[in-house]
Amino acid sequence: MEILRVENLSKIYGSGTTQVKALNGVSFSVKRGEFVAIVGASGSGKSTLLHMIGGVDRPTAGKVLIEDTDIYKLDKTNLAIFRRRQVGLIYQFYNLLPILNVEENITLPLLLDGQKADQKFLKEVLETLNLADRAGHLPNELSGGEQQRVSIGRALINRPALVLADEPTGNLDSKNSQEIVDLLKLSNKRYHQTLLMVTHNHNIALMADRMITISDGRIVKDEVIRR
Ligand code: ADP
Ligand code: ADP
Repeated sequence: MEILRVENLSKIYGSGTTQVKALNGVSFSVKRGEFVAIVGASGSGKSTLLHMIGGVDRPTAGKVLIEDTDIYKLDKTNLAIFRRRQVGLIYQFYNLLPILNVEENITLPLLLDGQKADQKFLKEVLETLNLADRAGHLPNELSGGEQQRVSIGRALINRPALVLADEPTGNLDSKNSQEIVDLLKLSNKRYHQTLLMVTHNHNIALMADRMITISDGRIVKDEVIRR
């Protein structure tokens, strides 16, 4: 079943002579449970694409449908609610709140949405991410790999329709990178989680099911890696 459809998406930054066409008519769809890597040179439009899909920034033209909701037809408030419930975001630099411990950082999206954590699921996520004995620790007491695992937990906790990861391994060494993508894969399979991951690391991209290559704001290749 299709969970994401991107239709003719374009994004132009700036105006007049300083215009940058970051995306130029991108279309593709993703099935529930797929793990898609988005690759391409620096400046090719990968982050922009992820931001448009995540409802972070409005496209200049085109549509993004997530579970049949045309997200840019929502008003600002409803888009924010939709995003909080349906999209989990993972960044290169973790973006954890320094004054909150591991468990509080992970459950923050639920709190912001006025929900209580499902304790059983929280425990399972902490165990899956190998963070059970770190639940009470603050981010500055954790290694980079551990901090990224917390940010994965935060992206998974409300069981979003889509998880978007922008260079999740960009700040990690190869051993930690491998481990992070193994964990993303595990949650992708275990929770039938749909995952889009931007990376410029070819070996990391090869761990996905499918690889989409972007060049100059267009899709130039879309290949199945494995089933
Ligand atoms: P990638 O993630 O592949 O490195 P980006 O999506 O970040 O590519 O950028 C695509 C193009 O859009 C680049 O030319 C970049 O400089 C430009 N760009 C990205 N974000 C902005 C912005 N907020 N304002 C102006 N130009 C931007
Ligand atoms: P990366 O390409 O390393 O993933 P991002 O595209 O995420 O970096 O850029 C980080 C931030 O800087 C984003 O908010 C993006 O919109 C902004 N940005 C990127 N390129 C430009 C640019 N040329 N001008 C202005 N802002 C930019």
